[in-house]
Amino acid sequence: MSSSPKSTSKEQDSLTKRTEIPQSHPRAKSLRIREKLIQHFKSGVVASAGLIAHGRGEAFDYLLGEKTTQPALKAIEAAAATLLTAKHPVISVNGNAVALASKEIVELSKITKAKIEVNLFHRSFEREMTIKKVLEEAGATEVLGIGEAASARIPEVGSERRRVDPKGIPIADVVLVPLEDGDRTEALVRMGKKVIAIDLNPLSRTAQFAAITIVDNVVRAIPTLTEIVGKLKTKNKKKLEDIASTFDNKKNLGKAIDLIHRRLSKLAEKGVYLPILEVDEP
Ligand code: ATP
Ligand code: MG
Repeated sequence: MSSSPKSTSKEQDSLTKRTEIPQSHPRAKSLRIREKLIQHFKSGVVASAGLIAHGRGEAFDYLLGEKTTQPALKAIEAAAATLLTAKHPVISVNGNAVALASKEIVELSKITKAKIEVNLFHRSFEREMTIKKVLEEAGATEVLGIGEAASARIPEVGSERRRVDPKGIPIADVVLVPLEDGDRTEALVRMGKKVIAIDLNPLSRTAQFAAITIVDNVVRAIPTLTEIVGKLKTKNKKKLEDIASTFDNKKNLGKAIDLIHRRLSKLAEKGVYLPILEVDEP
């Protein structure tokens, strides 16, 4: 349903509330994720630019077939082994990540003993506090990077985006970035951090600069990562180091790109690939 451009924000609100997505809708999952983001946009967790960033990710998810692919699983396994052998792992979160997967992020932080640090592109104390509250409601006992606590600086990143918490990123050896901007990812890599990125776009600067790139949606990748960490937890250090050191990100990213390429080639042969479903006569 579309609203007229003249509709007031009250009308818009009631339209959003009335939006019910039937289970059978072919885009139900994706629409529900959008609803979640819109609600979190209204509560101040997600920035307006975050909605646009989500759209860019969604487009790539479409191309990937909206599922966790084999290359993504391979990267998740390497990420799990890397997090388990890290001395000071940090999960760096922004508004979108928290809006989409707050509980899952907290679960992952608990099983890996990773700190959670809030790092926003559009930083404001109010937004940081709102995000902290969502994380605490999801079970987080410590949230770094809020207000004055973010007193250290990342070199070479402009403005407020360079601020970090001395208890988090500066002392981290491994940083997981579910959804990050390329400038910050590049700066983290230059600081010597081993960056694990979750990004649906294998061509983004973040995906390209990270040491381990999980080309998947955060809503699928984070719970899968937690599950694999659970499975690998009992393995010895040597085995975990082997998994991490034999992972080849360049090769794996190539496989993710090739998967999109092959999927599109198949669809290109068909052109029209969606049938209109027959509806029974009443
Ligand atoms: P970069 O700065 O790394 O080159 P970009 O400028 O193209 O990337 P940004 O807006 O900085 O994009 O960051 C948003 C990134 O997050 C995009 O690469 C997009 O694919 C990704 N993204 C958005 N939503 C999701 C999601 N739900 N799961 C995983 N990745 C997502
Ligand atoms: Mg960017």
